[in-house]
Amino acid sequence: MGERIVGEHFNPRGEPKRGYSSERKAKEEAKRFGKSYYRCGVCGKFHLASPPR
Ligand SMILES: [Zn+2]
Repeated sequence: MGERIVGEHFNPRGEPKRGYSSERKAKEEAKRFGKSYYRCGVCGKFHLASPPR
C-alpha cells in the first residue's frame, strides 16, 4: 500500500473533481444525477459522490 491521493478532491483518474461553490447547486445536481454531495476539505467546494453500491 502506498500513499493515497486525496480521494475527496480527485477522481480515480487523478483529475480534480468538478466543484460547486454553492451547496444549493450541488444539491440540485446531485439529485439530477442520483448522487450524493459533500463538502471538500481540500478546496472548500462541494463535489458529487457516487452512492455506495
Ligand atoms: Zn475539492
